[in-house]
Amino acid sequence: MLERLHVGGPASRSELTAATGLNRSTVADLIAELGELELVEERPAVVTSRPGRPSPVVHPRPDGAVALAMELVVDSIAVATVGLGGHVYNRVRVARPRDRFSPEETVQDVVKLAGPLLDSLPAGYRLCGVGAAVAGITRRADGFVHLAPNLGWRDVPLAALLAEELDIGTAVAVANEADLGALAEYRRGAPPGTEHLLYISGEVGIGSGVIVDGEPLLGAAGYAGEAGHTLINPAGRACRCGAVGCWETEAGELALLRRARVRGDASGVDTVAERADAGDPTAVRAIAEVGRWLGIGIGNLVNLFNPELVVLGGLYERLFDRFASSVREGMRTRALAAPGELVTIVPSALGIDAALLGAAELVLSGVIADPADGRQRPAARAGGMT
Ligand SMILES: [Zn+2]
Repeated sequence: MLERLHVGGPASRSELTAATGLNRSTVADLIAELGELELVEERPAVVTSRPGRPSPVVHPRPDGAVALAMELVVDSIAVATVGLGGHVYNRVRVARPRDRFSPEETVQDVVKLAGPLLDSLPAGYRLCGVGAAVAGITRRADGFVHLAPNLGWRDVPLAALLAEELDIGTAVAVANEADLGALAEYRRGAPPGTEHLLYISGEVGIGSGVIVDGEPLLGAAGYAGEAGHTLINPAGRACRCGAVGCWETEAGELALLRRARVRGDASGVDTVAERADAGDPTAVRAIAEVGRWLGIGIGNLVNLFNPELVVLGGLYERLFDRFASSVREGMRTRALAAPGELVTIVPSALGIDAALLGAAELVLSGVIADPADGRQRPAARAGGMT
């Protein structure tokens, strides 16, 4: 029931009865129980012209469970405070130069952004955890980043570093940014009823996350879904992961800039897009070529996972209108007819904040799974945050 309220928003008792299949008295008991935990509240319905007394509406209480969400990627770092029901209290994102800042410096920078956001939350809020999205191969159990090739990180105990620097006594969960982007698009972006979804995000590399039957596909330790490092061209280029011919060497940002002959800085993609819009044939060809390779890789994934929806994020969202036909054409060359005909390819609904919002969803999932234990009393704020 809490999941229904968190994802679907406020609902009347009869809507909750219908959605959960529980009887009315059980629903009433659960509302009372969640109300005592300060996770939901009943408010009078807006008066309508219909006869009869309007039944009250159950609302999720954002202040009853707040997640501190963070994103650490190549071009930027971001922090947000998000409450139950998906209410975003505040968010901030700052650009990060590509100077290969150390993990320690990055953690200090992101923690500095978090202080003012926590200070501006309403009085009496309950912080239920910290979630961080990182562009790397991450072990879920302890938030250990084995490899973040495009950040230049190897073997970084990121959750431990964040917990130490934040010093607020709540659990820190770390996961791959594309896995979290997939979670957010599934919960907050995709049309209701979508249960099989792929999220493919174009960054310096390619991130990908898979939702199967409404559940994130994680693998044994959380490493599943590294589609950016699957083989697409055996005669291709060396990848930063150490292998040759990975998907991202043909369809990632660096491949786009290389094909368009544009210098590799943060504004490179915009430059390519502007040139293409002005009719520069090199830029137009580069975007189409990257779209075709992207589509070929998507075709492989469509054959593996039979998704209903493929959501394109990151730079692919920005280029979507310019290369959608090339992506679909590339996909058709690889996908088998039956799964290929079922799939719809769309741009991200959440845009640049998909993974950041997914980091909040990761934390709030814990509250939904265990409303009594999944959150903590507001921690005394220690020094070092501001
Ligand atoms: Zn690779």
